[in-house]
Amino acid sequence: MVLNELGARINTALQALSREAVIDERAVDALLREICGALLESDVNVRLVHTLRQNVKKRVDLDELAASSNKRKVVQSAVFDELCRLVDPGVQPWKPQRGKQNVVMFVGLQGSGKTTSCTKLAAYYKRKGLKVGLVCADTFRAGAFDQLKQNASRAHIPYYGSYTEPDPVRIAVDGVAQFRASKFDLIIVDTSGRHKQEAELFAEMEQIAAAIKPHNTIFVMDGTIGQAADAQARAFKQSADIGSIIITKMDGHAKGGGAISAVAATGSPIEFIGTGEHIHDLDAFSARSFVSKMLGLGDIGGLVETVKDMQLEKNEDMMKNLAKGVFTLKDMRDQLQSILKMGPLSKIMGMVPGMSPEMMQGFDADESTRRLRSYMCVFDSMTEAELNSDGKPFENESRLRRVARGSGVRPVEIQALLHQHRQFGQLVKKMGGPKGMLGKMNPAM
Ligand code: GDP
Repeated sequence: MVLNELGARINTALQALSREAVIDERAVDALLREICGALLESDVNVRLVHTLRQNVKKRVDLDELAASSNKRKVVQSAVFDELCRLVDPGVQPWKPQRGKQNVVMFVGLQGSGKTTSCTKLAAYYKRKGLKVGLVCADTFRAGAFDQLKQNASRAHIPYYGSYTEPDPVRIAVDGVAQFRASKFDLIIVDTSGRHKQEAELFAEMEQIAAAIKPHNTIFVMDGTIGQAADAQARAFKQSADIGSIIITKMDGHAKGGGAISAVAATGSPIEFIGTGEHIHDLDAFSARSFVSKMLGLGDIGGLVETVKDMQLEKNEDMMKNLAKGVFTLKDMRDQLQSILKMGPLSKIMGMVPGMSPEMMQGFDADESTRRLRSYMCVFDSMTEAELNSDGKPFENESRLRRVARGSGVRPVEIQALLHQHRQFGQLVKKMGGPKGMLGKMNPAM
């Protein structure tokens, strides 16, 4: 069962409970039956589901519940906490330290999404301002270096690898040394994956680890493997000093709850989940955010972090303009560009509290992303003077037609963009100036 469906089923069960006239043991049992059934169908281990049922029953005091005006909330909070406990081993994952040259090694089976995740992680920390380099120490799979090279170039991340050196240990050592010499903050080493947990794979992993002494080893696991996750995670944990885990392919039809709970049961913290093939499809994992999102309750923590990543405060020109009550087309372009950089809109919408999966159904994220991209072409076709203006130059029709021709966007859509800009500009004008709310903001904030 896909996670959204699991969340919807748990929510429906909770709603049914609040409609019950009498909340007795029978009603709570019926609720737990439904929730546990949904969890089992999502591949969560029977043992873990049993523990969850016991714990919720222990926590829900029937006498207290009978008197409570909001029965659903009481039970919901017990279920919520237990679901969090199911996916949270209570250990914080390792984080790179600023001012230090951090080395991270990736391990996992072939096809798990290791190479893709290496680049995603590199891009994630690059957005946070770290100088990141990638090393390809996978000499087993033909084409591994080309793949890493391609991904890294697209994301403008420096990489190291070799077409001729057959020894992965040598490549790892040389790559790390090169990036160390150039004062990189984070060096990510990708290693070979094999089809299954072979002794050879583990031996190579150990040799590389002994040679480069990574500060952290990240185990990458395919989230679609369901119940097998438990055994695989345990095997890797025994052979390598696994500091954290990335579970991939949590998009689409993954019964991801099974993998996440199985892995959490091994005591290893899940650091990220991969949610697609695109470079931005990597979500920092937090048990509460994960459960919250699954139940359609939003993810404020994730949203705050994503907005922080936009580094609005670094756009000093815009902050100064806003303080003066001015909002140019260039300011608008920079804002829209930041939104595009944050990744797919569907992901951002999913973090907004109250945006349940059902509500998202009418929202065509791909279409909105496409429209944002076409707006970027419009801005690219404007002159510097036009960009720095309040949009008035486009009252001249021939200018508008020129930009339409240059960008391939229809004039009516450009007019809609200019209209949006004008509306927000009026608001900024009202709030700006020395006495306005924006005027009191510190531009260098
Ligand atoms: P490796 O052999 O472990 O290095 O695996 P790759 O990084 O080459 O990934 C194997 C396949 O899985 C590729 O087609 C990736 O695009 C795909 N992949 C990786 N991560 C994700 C993910 O989070 N979601 C989806 N849908 N595909 C992924």
